[in-house]
Amino acid sequence: MTQAAAWLGVAPDHLLGLAALPYASYSAAHHAEEFRVGVAIGDSVLDLTTACDRLLPGRAHLFSSGTLDQFLAAGDGAWAQVRAEVTRWLSADEYRPAIEDLIQPAAAVQLGMPFVVADYVDFYASEHHVANVGRIFRPDGEPLTPNWKHLPIGYHGRAGTVVLSGTEIRRPCGQSRPPGADLPVFGAARQLDFEAELGFVVGAHSHLGEPVPVERFAEHVFGVCLVNDWSARDIQRWESAPLGPFVGKSFATTMSPWILPLAALEHARIRPPSREAKQVGYLVEMADWGLDIDFEVRLNGHVIAQPPYATMYWSPAQMLAHMTGTGAALRSGDLFASGTVSGPAREQSGCLIELAWNGKEPVLLPDGSTRSWLHDGDEVTISATAPGPDGVRIGLGAAIGCILPAVPTPPEARY
Ligand code: MN
Repeated sequence: MTQAAAWLGVAPDHLLGLAALPYASYSAAHHAEEFRVGVAIGDSVLDLTTACDRLLPGRAHLFSSGTLDQFLAAGDGAWAQVRAEVTRWLSADEYRPAIEDLIQPAAAVQLGMPFVVADYVDFYASEHHVANVGRIFRPDGEPLTPNWKHLPIGYHGRAGTVVLSGTEIRRPCGQSRPPGADLPVFGAARQLDFEAELGFVVGAHSHLGEPVPVERFAEHVFGVCLVNDWSARDIQRWESAPLGPFVGKSFATTMSPWILPLAALEHARIRPPSREAKQVGYLVEMADWGLDIDFEVRLNGHVIAQPPYATMYWSPAQMLAHMTGTGAALRSGDLFASGTVSGPAREQSGCLIELAWNGKEPVLLPDGSTRSWLHDGDEVTISATAPGPDGVRIGLGAAIGCILPAVPTPPEARY
C-alpha cells in the first residue's frame, strides 16, 4: 500500500506521501501552548495524539505528553505497530469519519522540539570531508590520521544547545589566534561555517556495561533527522589540539523538526563504499546500513552544494556499535550525527571550509557577492530526499538557520 486515500488529496509524487510518515511535535495556532504529536501526510498534519485516543487506545499514553519521548522509549514493537496503524488509517476510506477532523494544513501549525535530546554525539564519518580538511590543515602530511579507517571518530557535543530548525543562530564570541599573531584574542567568530549532517535518534535505551552490536542497530535507533553542526572555524582551530572540538561548536546545533522512522528508509539502504582496511570484529556488519540520501544545501535560497550520503565510509550501525563498545549506555532521546556529508566533487561538499577551500576559492552567489564564511543575515537551509517504494521519493524536511550578529563584547571582557 503506497497511496494515501483519495480524499486526502495527496499527489502520488509528494515527498510526504504514505511511504514517509514522519513524526513531529506541534501546536495548533489557536492552542499555542498545547502540544500534540503529529504525522505529516502531504501538505497536512494528522493529530496522532487524538487519533490514538480514538483508534488505538492501548498506545494512546505514548502520545499524551505531546512529544515523542514516550514513543521513542517504547521500542521497536510499538514503532512498527503505530506505523502500520497510521498507514491503514490514511489509506483506507473507512477511517475518514474517524480522522477527518484531526487533519489540518501543515502551514497552520507551530512545530516544537520533537523530543528531549539526552546526549549528543557528533561523528566524522565522511572520508571525503576528512581528507579535504586534512589537506587544508596539513598540506604536507597524510590526509587521514592512522586511526581513521579503523574506528568511527566522534566527540561528545552539547545536548542542551540542540535547537529546532528556524531558531536564529547568534554569531558566537570566543578565543582564537589570528594568523601570524603572537597572542590569542577574544571576539566575534570570523570564520563561521555550517556542516550538513544526518542525525540518528535513539529510542530504546541500553544497559550500562552492555555493548549494542551492529546487528541490533534497528532495535535501538528509531529514525533520522537533518542536523546543522554550526562551527566557528577560527575558534575550533585554536582550541582543538589536543582534545578536539569544544566551544567552537557547542554554541548551537540545529535539527529538523520531523523525525523520519528508519522503516521509511528501507528502500534507501545500500552497501556502504568498500572499506579496504580490515575492520575490527565488533565493527564488521552483515546488514547494509549505508543510506542513499541526497542532500541539498542552500545559502540565501541558492543551491551551493549537493552532498551524497551514499558515499559515507562508516555506517550508523558501526557508529552505534563503537559508541557503546565499551559498555557505555544509551538513553532514550540520545542523538548522534554523522559528521559533515561530503562527496568526491567540490560541489558535493557539506561545509563552507571545503566549498571555499579555506577562503582561497570563495563561493560565488547569484547577487555577485562571495562567501568564504557565513555573513550576518545569511540563511542556511539543509534538506534531503531518499528513494522510497515504487519509484517515489521521500522527503526528510529541512534544517534552517539564520545568522544574527554577535553580541558586542564589553570592553572589560577583552583581556
Ligand atoms: Mn560536525
